[in-house]
Amino acid sequence: KKTIAVITSGGDAPGMNACIRAIVLTANRFGHQVIGFKHGYNGLIENEKVLLSPFDVQHTIQLGGTILKSARCLAFTTDKGLIAAVENLNKNEVDALVVIGGDGSLRGLDRLQKHWDGQVIGVPGTIDNDLNGTDNTIGYQTAIDTALDSIDKLRDTADAFERIFLVEVMGRHAGFIALASAVASGAEQALFPESIDDPHTELESIVQHVECLRQVKGKSSIIMVIAEHLWPGGVSDLAETLTNQIGIECRPCILGHIQRGGAPVAYDRILATKLGSYAVEIINEGQSGVMVGEINNRQCAHKLNYVYSEQKELDPYLVKIQQNLFDVVQCLNLSK
Ligand code: ATP
Repeated sequence: KKTIAVITSGGDAPGMNACIRAIVLTANRFGHQVIGFKHGYNGLIENEKVLLSPFDVQHTIQLGGTILKSARCLAFTTDKGLIAAVENLNKNEVDALVVIGGDGSLRGLDRLQKHWDGQVIGVPGTIDNDLNGTDNTIGYQTAIDTALDSIDKLRDTADAFERIFLVEVMGRHAGFIALASAVASGAEQALFPESIDDPHTELESIVQHVECLRQVKGKSSIIMVIAEHLWPGGVSDLAETLTNQIGIECRPCILGHIQRGGAPVAYDRILATKLGSYAVEIINEGQSGVMVGEINNRQCAHKLNYVYSEQKELDPYLVKIQQNLFDVVQCLNLSK
């Protein structure tokens, strides 16, 4: 019988609760005890803990956010913070720590494992989908649907007013949400880090693209989906620049934190349930230093430094068709 600690860390993601629930229910089946530490790594440092029984996680599978709360924790990146976290893990006789979070949280866990003898298991919980070792992260599919819902609504008003909308979506430094929500919403353009080397040299082709769509293809409403952190000065700055260059008002719309909220879609609830259960199963096997994931419907576990070290590749076919569907070169040929 083991004591398993669990935290949710970094940006919250829909499905984190479903994952906590699966960990608690599976652990209970094996007779393990589960302790939740609150507010991410802060809870480990401050020893802010709560015992989690199956009763505590009932009716949580459908809830967005996280019942354990989440947070960033600067203190954990210092030696003092790390030592305090290790001391509390030892004081509570924790055998295994499960961290549900994104790449930063898993980097932190990798660092922790070098200073603590217990088992450490990561679970990919982030809307950004920017972790190797899993096809989908928990929360990603919900975030796409949330962004899509808003973009569909913007399309209605863009059509009615014959406007150009620049919609900023989340994703940290990866284009997963931008690409997926752009394709699913029929957006005329998607700009994301993987498709752009230098934003400044890109401006001319963006302007050309918009002119082509309007004048050659006769589009009266245009939606451009843009990944956060991509444009220096943000989408408002780009909207202003485009407005000046094209002579038509371009409206920025930053979707922001609504993308992190809401009830998880079925896919995320199921993925979270599988990965939470699998995390406990591999704890039983004695594994450590890995993140659980799912590739081609098969559960797997990869070393922590593998999952965050390299940029995860976007679906190259999806990138290609998004570009081909609204191809500027073809558009220019049409205009000749
Ligand atoms: P998301 O990308 O979805 O917001 P995340 O887990 O990447 O989630 P971060 O804010 O990057 O979010 O990281 C969460 C926490 O993990 C940080 O506040 C910090 O406590 C810890 N962390 C991040 N990077 C490191 C690191 N290199 N060393 C130690 N701890 C780290």
